[in-house]
Amino acid sequence: MEGRRLAVIRSHLSQGNPSISSCGVHSSPCGGGSGGDASRRGRAADTIWKGNCIFCKIARGESPAFKLYEDDTCLCILDSNPLTPGHSLIIPKSHYRSLEETPPSVVSTLCSIIPLLSSAIMKATKSDSFNLLANSGAAAGQVVFHTHLHIIPRREDDCLWRSEGSLRKPFKHVQEAANLADDIREHLTCRNHEEPKLGEGE
Ligand code: AMP
Ligand code: ZN
Repeated sequence: MEGRRLAVIRSHLSQGNPSISSCGVHSSPCGGGSGGDASRRGRAADTIWKGNCIFCKIARGESPAFKLYEDDTCLCILDSNPLTPGHSLIIPKSHYRSLEETPPSVVSTLCSIIPLLSSAIMKATKSDSFNLLANSGAAAGQVVFHTHLHIIPRREDDCLWRSEGSLRKPFKHVQEAANLADDIREHLTCRNHEEPKLGEGE
């Protein structure tokens, strides 16, 4: 199992194409879209999924979990299939399919408790390092389609991945990078003019 999880993480680092969710949830490669039948079908599927979502069930107290922390917006639980001891998940109580679809205010709350939680987890596991991981979307290795952040305590001798450094390649064509940067900045400008997106759970 750990091998599979590492494979998922490695494959997203190497931009591979891991298989879709073992929970039987498929995310559209075109994701989100705007309006139309497909979008309506997507929302209906989300509603069904939400009722069956394991993290919603944990948030509602209908499924067991080792809860480490809870406030009005989020909770932190031990991962039931940890990569290392203390591997934990920060989860919003409301259902959002992925980080991208989570309202900034909720993301902000999730992130604000990282220092508190990570230092407690590191002390308890006698580690001095951790990885913060978010798999957003199937190609990135997301398996549970309810937003969550992983805190993975690390030790020198844990035999997990050291760094993705060996997979990186310097820019081959500086002009391509410049064009890409322009493109991203343009999308940022468009986004600034969009209406704020309301999350399902709010
Ligand atoms: P991801 O690939 O980012 O979607 O990871 C989902 C994570 O949720 C995995 O690390 C699973 O081990 C974990 N997980 C799934 N079901 C449960 C559960 N009932 N309680 C705690 N962790 C869970
Ligand atoms: Zn959910």
